[in-house]
Amino acid sequence: MDPPKELHQLERPERRVESLLTSTEIVAQIAQIVPCTEAEGPGRRFAVWFQGCPLRCPGCCNPDFLPFAGGKPMTVTEILELLDSSRLQHQLEGITLLGGEPTAQPLAAAAIARGAWERGLTVLLFSGFTLEQLREKQDPAIHNLLAHTDILVDGPYDRDQPETQRRWIGSANQRVHFLTSRCAWDERWFQKNTLEIRVRGREIIVNGYPAASTRIIRRWQKNRN
Ligand code: SF4
Repeated sequence: MDPPKELHQLERPERRVESLLTSTEIVAQIAQIVPCTEAEGPGRRFAVWFQGCPLRCPGCCNPDFLPFAGGKPMTVTEILELLDSSRLQHQLEGITLLGGEPTAQPLAAAAIARGAWERGLTVLLFSGFTLEQLREKQDPAIHNLLAHTDILVDGPYDRDQPETQRRWIGSANQRVHFLTSRCAWDERWFQKNTLEIRVRGREIIVNGYPAASTRIIRRWQKNRN
């Protein structure tokens, strides 16, 4: 007979998060998904923009993604199905989680990151919080998300310090942390930034840098609708 599980083991928050992460019904509020992009990190990536950010960096390039009300509710299962379908069509290297602020929806972000790892894909996470701030948060889901993150780009966007060297990074104060040995600096990080524009019916989807162009095109799209 199995030994009885101790109550304190069952109640540990990390264990609760582990069991919640296997739930297929976690719902995320999603601003945008691009199934395959080369403008949001190294290689071809599946990119997920979370809706809502508690920070307000002046000059944020995604102002439409800041309110928590908005976007589209999607289950983690639906998002991973889209990821699987993209993997069939493209040679994906990984996924990118950005927003908005992915760590504001940590359970969903952690479950998606874990799903990516299970599929052999790397995870790049953009957060307006620093690594230290995230580690200090008493939220096991955030710790689980970091445990399934290969690359973290951290810190708020500072429009007074535009990044001029590192590709995909908004401002020079933001740091790149390689949290696993699967990823490291390579020449792709120092190539020119790219902007991608897709037209789907009446919808225009813009992603990548330069941020100013992204803002202008989004504003134009909003005025057009
Ligand atoms: S953290 Fe990112 S999404 Fe949030 S306000 Fe700053 S730049 Fe915008």
